[in-house]
Amino acid sequence: MDFSITPEQQALYASMKRLAADVVAPGAAERDRDGRWDPDVWKQLAAAGVAGMPIPEEHGGSGGSIIDCCLVNEALAEGGHDGGLGLSLGAHWVIGTVPIWLHGTPEQQARWLPGLCDGSLIGSWASTEPEAGSDAAGIRTTATPDGDGWVLNGTKMFITNGPIADVCTVLALAPEGPTAFIVDTTNPGFTVGRELDKMGCRSSPTAEIVLQDCRVERDSLLGTPGEALWKIAFECFDWERTVMIAGCVGGMRATLDDAIAYAKDRKQFGKPIAHFQAVAHKLADMEINYQVVRNAVYKAAWLKENGQPHMLEASIAKALAGKLAVENALENIQIHGGYGYTRDFRAERGLRDAKLTSIGGGTTEIQKLIISRTILA
Ligand SMILES: Cc1cc2nc3c(=O)[nH]c(=O)nc-3n(C[C@H](O)[C@H](O)[C@H](O)COP(=O)(O)OP(=O)(O)OC[C@H]3O[C@@H](n4cnc5c(N)ncnc54)[C@H](O)[C@@H]3O)c2cc1C
Repeated sequence: MDFSITPEQQALYASMKRLAADVVAPGAAERDRDGRWDPDVWKQLAAAGVAGMPIPEEHGGSGGSIIDCCLVNEALAEGGHDGGLGLSLGAHWVIGTVPIWLHGTPEQQARWLPGLCDGSLIGSWASTEPEAGSDAAGIRTTATPDGDGWVLNGTKMFITNGPIADVCTVLALAPEGPTAFIVDTTNPGFTVGRELDKMGCRSSPTAEIVLQDCRVERDSLLGTPGEALWKIAFECFDWERTVMIAGCVGGMRATLDDAIAYAKDRKQFGKPIAHFQAVAHKLADMEINYQVVRNAVYKAAWLKENGQPHMLEASIAKALAGKLAVENALENIQIHGGYGYTRDFRAERGLRDAKLTSIGGGTTEIQKLIISRTILA
């Protein structure tokens, strides 16, 4: 067994962590407070090749492997302390761009991928609806054939990058069943509805999307009619549970480092609180949680990279991360005492950002459903 990463991957990690520390971390608290997306931060990350990380170079991407992509997500989260940035970037890559790369025709790839990879375009994915979340097959948005195209009608919910996206892959019910369409967001029938005021990941814009008589042409069809749920949406969920989840690992590392630094610095009863066994053991538990989640995430990612079955491992990684990231964020607040309960420190933001891990990309309960069905089969 080889758990090592190459010197190039170590250098990639270090440079991404530094970039995030320089570009992302400085305004993170203010963006969180204001719920503000910052296009300048995006541009600086895109200039470093981050926007097209998993996409092959022939399409304008950076040609990163699955493990490379995990490392970049992890490093940006560790250095940047901005869960929202990770969410928007992850949605752009994993569910906004990858489906067009993997299922698009050469014309669709040529139209969308260069801009998505250089960051001049922002991607998004819309499957969730007000009445269809965990039950992704329960979507009601319709795609009605109309001449040489379709007319889309319905409402999508919780769409990451909704207000800023240039392109959105929409899942709708055609006569053949769930079907994916690449929709240019300037299409007059595509409107951004209510922007959601979230508890965490607030620098990432999330909105309702309304499709009202949104006419799309034949060349918007992504993949085969009726097959989008199994072939495209489930693949998106798989990328979320292997690649996007790595951001959570970086967030956990940053949380632990903050806790260690504070425990070494803060003195009570004449010595640093890290000297009290109760505090030191909290730090030990946080390290255990971090290592367990990191190993689980990279095992699932490694299996994916090597083309091996990994649905069980990805769900285990996602369920573990959803639980242990929150546990660590809570302990970080506890170690910070009263200061941890204020907005003067980023411990409370870490908790609010970490909570999304158990909800987005399939809830913990759905991961346990997958795990239990697999072991009971
Ligand atoms: C910040 C954010 C960003 C998001 N970004 C996107 C995006 O870009 N695109 C997109 O399409 N979607 C996106 N989502 C949607 C996300 O995938 C859903 O929120 C998630 O799948 C859960 O759906 P729901 O919120 O409707 O909850 P529900 O499905 O209504 O679940 C409510 C509760 O019931 C539980 N539950 C439901 N069914 C079962 C079951 N069978 N067994 C046991 N428990 C069950 C759930 O686990 C949960 O605890 C985003 C969500 C958030 C919060």
